[in-house]
Amino acid sequence: MILVTGGAGFIGANFVLDWLAQSDEALINLDKLTYAGNRENLATLAGDPRHIFVHGDIGDSQLTASLLAQYQPRAIVNFAAESHVDRSIHGPEDFIQTNIVGSFHLLEATRAYWGTLADPARQGFRFLHVSTDEVYGSLRSDEAAFSETHAYEPNSPYSASKAASDHLVRAYHHTYGLPVLTTNCSNNYGPYHFPEKLIPLMIVNALAGKALPVYGDGQQIRDWLYVKDHCTAIRRVLEAGRPGETYNVGGWNEQPNLDIVHTVCQLLDELHPRADGRPYREQITTVADRPGHDRRYAIDARKIENELGWKPAETFATGIRKTVLWYLENQKWVHNVQSGSYRDWVEKNYGER
Ligand code: NAD
Repeated sequence: MILVTGGAGFIGANFVLDWLAQSDEALINLDKLTYAGNRENLATLAGDPRHIFVHGDIGDSQLTASLLAQYQPRAIVNFAAESHVDRSIHGPEDFIQTNIVGSFHLLEATRAYWGTLADPARQGFRFLHVSTDEVYGSLRSDEAAFSETHAYEPNSPYSASKAASDHLVRAYHHTYGLPVLTTNCSNNYGPYHFPEKLIPLMIVNALAGKALPVYGDGQQIRDWLYVKDHCTAIRRVLEAGRPGETYNVGGWNEQPNLDIVHTVCQLLDELHPRADGRPYREQITTVADRPGHDRRYAIDARKIENELGWKPAETFATGIRKTVLWYLENQKWVHNVQSGSYRDWVEKNYGER
């Protein structure tokens, strides 16, 4: 049994689905169901006894302590977070509460639980914290990609809150000996991605005939990884990572945002041509740049590749095609997450636990 937090969100849901597709080990999925959490992502697991969904907050120490005591998980994978940079600029409070204070309470509950375990369960226990490359700040075009020893220089309230949680996780290892692992991953894309983030927003807006808003000159560079490859990396780190270590996860795929948008447009031209036959790229518009927008992120993934033998299975070309196809085939999901009707669906199908 493992405990996953934030398993109704984008990466968490992909991880939960992948985990249960690959093993019979049950998991508890603790999720607050913020706007980003969507139980419809887990619809295929309805009635599956291996998936125990609990609606709750990682900051609720009583709840997490009772879940840990009841289910005695051998590991915790912490995905729960506020994750959208733009939202953190307009309202940082929730980011501080969940990403810092919530992670702290989860660590405290974990430390107490871990202290009750007898060997070898105590030795084998793992707390895996899922984090981001944004904690490292922005790279110049001539700088080497982020390795695990790169200095932390977070620039947005989101990345600062994730950096703080990474430091707490690290401190719980050095101070208390808690067997922690941290993964810092680049930008993910793929199924179940909430349409406020670049790639799903472009697909959804393009299909709706709306403008495709690109920040500033569109030359901000990100490293992109297909979400299922991120899930495989997390499984691998959980399985074989060394406690106290951090692992950078990335796809060796740096691209300017504008190129990403052009690729999405080209795929849509091919897979779902506009009714008027015009190219989707005509819908691209530029908007004022995000304040403090980091120019470039790039991940050096050699440590996880060399030490743990992980490599991404998808190239960007194969992953982005799968992603666009998924959105074309799951228009109902898009409609539901945008309209908020998925919450009605949750109540109708599951009620509250
Ligand atoms: P998401 O916003 O799609 O999902 C977050 C999930 O956490 C949601 O289901 C939400 O309901 C839940 N949640 C939020 N606050 C909670 C709380 N207090 N208690 C319990 N659950 C709570 O995010 P995501 O894109 O899936 O990211 C997951 C993790 O991976 C985050 O920690 C993020 O920092 C990290 N990450 C994301 C990316 C990316 O490209 N999306 C890249 C690297 C790392």
